[in-house]
Amino acid sequence: MPQVTSPSYVARIMKEKGIGAKKGLGQNFLVDRNIVQRILDHAAVDGESWVLEIGPGMGALTWPLAERGAQVVALEIDSELAAILRETLPHPKITIVEGDALSLDWEGALKDAGWEGQPLALVANLPYYITSPLIMKALECGLPFTAIVVMVQKEVAERMLADPGSKDFGVLSLAVQYYAQGSLVLKVPRTVFFPPPSVDSAVVKLEPRPPQVSAPRSQLFAVIRAAFQQRRKTLRNALKPLLAEWGLEMEQLDRALARCGLDPRVRGERLSLAEYSQLTEELLKGV
Ligand code: SAM
Repeated sequence: MPQVTSPSYVARIMKEKGIGAKKGLGQNFLVDRNIVQRILDHAAVDGESWVLEIGPGMGALTWPLAERGAQVVALEIDSELAAILRETLPHPKITIVEGDALSLDWEGALKDAGWEGQPLALVANLPYYITSPLIMKALECGLPFTAIVVMVQKEVAERMLADPGSKDFGVLSLAVQYYAQGSLVLKVPRTVFFPPPSVDSAVVKLEPRPPQVSAPRSQLFAVIRAAFQQRRKTLRNALKPLLAEWGLEMEQLDRALARCGLDPRVRGERLSLAEYSQLTEELLKGV
């Protein structure tokens, strides 16, 4: 059985294959068995599960997932690593798909591996340089994820789970709240990676659920994006370009703010998801 979470295994394979960790692809390999097991526990993976994994690397999560009986489809951008994985992890439940997880068709890759629409989990130790777009894709793609369990940079975890008024609160926090129930499940020190990154990490669990607010999604996020595009401005000023786009006058925004009980000098970072939803619905009445 390959000791995928052992530092000496990772070092040996890299030496044998003559490869190094590619910093530009966020290659910091997890070499701690205990943390791997805890990630799998939080994803509630068992013999019935289907799992989509992003960035399998040397297989630290991939092999233990398959050993628990899960059917794993793992997307890896690095062709050298994809070839190594196919050779070192010969498991009937593992499918390695080579390509960029941001542009790959996830549903197509799953179906090619035999997936027929069952609930599934997304499990990943994400490469830091694509964390936000990848999480947005996971939330928006419409696949029936029961859980999205991802290791991310500690600061990104803080942004994902921030509440209104905090300096970390932004579009990512609101998107997480819109699509899912999010929680911090584990703090992870940099020492459990090879090579160690320059930041600490955290594991976040997102449990997708139907939206808790009623404003139409695309207009709601147009308002949210406009509000945070110019974070330092008051909401009233930040929304000016969007008003023009929607053919609305400033007075209509002022009336909408008043009906929502919002101070015209409020900044976007103070509003909750429910307040954004109400404001969007009030604005749409004038469109
Ligand atoms: N899962 C392994 C682990 O925990 O040790 C590796 C995690 S490492 C932080 C990130 C992995 O994602 C690397 O294997 C890297 O090559 C891969 N990767 C980077 N960008 C990617 C992308 N756009 N699509 C798919 N995989 C990517």
